[in-house]
Amino acid sequence: MILIVDDTPENLISLRKVLELNGFEVDTASSGEEALRKVLKQSYILIILDVQMPDMDGFEVAETLSGFSGTKDTAIIFLTAVNTDIQYVKKGYVSGGLDYITKPVDINILLLKVKTFYRIYEQNRRLAEMRQALEEEIEIRKEAEKKKDEFISVASHELKTPLTSIKGYVQLLQRTIETEKKEVVRQHLTRVQGQVEKLNALVIDLLDMSRIESGKLQFNETYFSLDALLDLVIEETRQTHPEVGIVRTGYAGREVWGDEMRIEQVLVNFITNGIKYSPEQKEIEIHVRVTADRVYVGVRDHGIGINKEHQQHIFRKFYRVEDNAHRFQGLGIGLFICQQIIESHHGEIGVKSIPGEGAEFFFSIPFVHMEQPQAGVKLSLDKNS
Ligand code: ADP
Repeated sequence: MILIVDDTPENLISLRKVLELNGFEVDTASSGEEALRKVLKQSYILIILDVQMPDMDGFEVAETLSGFSGTKDTAIIFLTAVNTDIQYVKKGYVSGGLDYITKPVDINILLLKVKTFYRIYEQNRRLAEMRQALEEEIEIRKEAEKKKDEFISVASHELKTPLTSIKGYVQLLQRTIETEKKEVVRQHLTRVQGQVEKLNALVIDLLDMSRIESGKLQFNETYFSLDALLDLVIEETRQTHPEVGIVRTGYAGREVWGDEMRIEQVLVNFITNGIKYSPEQKEIEIHVRVTADRVYVGVRDHGIGINKEHQQHIFRKFYRVEDNAHRFQGLGIGLFICQQIIESHHGEIGVKSIPGEGAEFFFSIPFVHMEQPQAGVKLSLDKNS
């Protein structure tokens, strides 16, 4: 907006009219004091300031304005008598743009100057916006870089733990094999196998992560039996975690379109997390529900649960709940991968949880093949938990 300051009402009216006709928003003040009052309340891009005014003249107004923090980008055009030395004015007003027009005002020149100031103002504004966007981008990249460094250190640690274990068992095996204690050898081998599987799972997650990053996560979709897949996953969990009780309710009852191995990956992830984050009560419930066109699978545990604040973030890459990070091993990428998988199935993924009482991680996907790819996965968080 432009502020015209002039003690002659006719000047105010005629200038205002011309500027408004040219599409500018205009405000007026008939004295220096009124101008200062207005400037305190509202910011102006340009002030057209008459120099010769009673009480407070235009130079004094400009000098006072230079002390206001809000006017640092405001330009001033003085309307002066022919022989005024503009250098004198510059001393008083250093910020913003500055120019002058001699009276009587040539309206075409004034318009030209106003337009130039507006153009400069627009360019400056755009530059400032770009600078801010760049600064934000730099911050985001710095943060991502930091996260990556942290991730590499956590990942190396996670990979080293099973490796150290395997090394230990292999040394034990070398010694035991001499004594021909077959049962002990078998026990050590089972442990080695468990650790190798852990390593394998970690490497698979890391590979998936890098495929997601490069947009190369592949899907092999067909119709498959979700019920048979659930039976299989439950059976395997019973074998690998005999201490965990698994209860299942509900059936899909018909085939589902999707990548069976990827859906298995999501289920295994939910279940292993359910077991991992339930240090005391080892029971997992699997609930299957069916609506007209979708099937819902929820994996419920009775573990530590997650509060609302963290629920919003746990599907993000590398996100781990800080308070538990030292208690439970992990890379913070499992749920991120699950989210990507469910996104590719046009599905919904989410969690319902009451801290201290456990969590239910769920997904729901359409039964049938959907032609149109969806823009993004819908993350669903329970409003009541
Ligand atoms: P990871 O378990 O390797 O840290 P995930 O991506 O699988 O990574 O999970 C992200 C975070 O979500 C975990 O660090 C944990 O804080 C939280 N979380 C996941 N599953 C559960 C669960 N069943 N109960 C409580 N917290 C969970």
